Amino acid sequence: MTAKAGDKAQKTGDFYCASCDEKVHATQGQEIPRCPNGHTQFATRRNEPGNKSSG
Ligand SMILES: [Zn+2]
Repeated sequence: MTAKAGDKAQKTGDFYCASCDEKVHATQGQEIPRCPNGHTQFATRRNEPGNKSSG
Protein backbone atom coordinates (compact mmCIF):
# COMPACT_ATOMS: atom_id res chain seq x y z
CA MET A 1 0.00 0.00 0.00
CA THR A 2 1.39 3.38 -0.93
CA ALA A 3 0.41 6.96 -0.32
CA LYS A 4 1.17 10.25 -2.00
CA ALA A 5 1.78 13.71 -0.69
CA GLY A 6 -1.46 15.66 -0.90
CA ASP A 7 -3.60 12.61 -0.28
CA LYS A 8 -5.70 12.60 2.85
CA ALA A 9 -4.31 10.22 5.42
CA GLN A 10 -6.79 7.47 6.21
CA LYS A 11 -5.17 6.95 9.56
CA THR A 12 -2.83 8.83 11.79
CA GLY A 13 0.64 7.43 11.49
CA ASP A 14 4.05 7.66 9.96
CA PHE A 15 4.86 7.35 6.32
CA TYR A 16 8.23 6.50 4.89
CA CYS A 17 9.43 8.05 1.66
CA ALA A 18 9.70 5.46 -1.07
CA SER A 19 12.76 7.22 -2.46
CA CYS A 20 14.88 8.13 0.56
CA ASP A 21 13.16 6.54 3.56
CA GLU A 22 12.60 9.87 5.24
CA LYS A 23 9.77 9.69 7.74
CA VAL A 24 6.86 12.07 7.78
CA HIS A 25 3.98 12.15 10.20
CA ALA A 26 0.43 12.38 8.96
CA THR A 27 -2.77 12.93 10.89
CA GLN A 28 -6.02 11.23 9.99
CA GLY A 29 -8.06 13.39 7.64
CA GLN A 30 -5.13 15.72 6.96
CA GLU A 31 -3.11 15.88 3.80
CA ILE A 32 0.12 13.96 3.83
CA PRO A 33 3.02 16.41 3.72
CA ARG A 34 5.84 16.11 1.26
CA CYS A 35 9.08 14.47 2.15
CA PRO A 36 11.67 17.03 3.36
CA ASN A 37 13.66 16.09 0.27
CA GLY A 38 10.79 16.86 -2.08
CA HIS A 39 9.55 13.36 -2.83
CA THR A 40 5.86 12.59 -2.92
CA GLN A 41 5.60 8.80 -2.84
CA PHE A 42 5.36 7.05 0.49
CA ALA A 43 5.10 3.52 1.72
CA THR A 44 3.00 3.02 4.79
CA ARG A 45 4.44 0.86 7.52
CA ARG A 46 2.80 -0.82 10.41
CA ASN A 47 3.97 -2.56 13.54
CA GLU A 48 7.33 -0.95 13.33
CA PRO A 49 9.61 -2.01 16.16
CA GLY A 50 10.02 0.86 18.58
CA ASN A 51 6.60 2.25 17.88
CA LYS A 52 5.05 2.33 21.29
CA SER A 53 2.06 4.43 20.37
CA SER A 54 -1.24 2.63 20.29
CA GLY A 55 -4.87 3.46 19.94
ZN1 LIG B 1 12.24 11.45 0.13
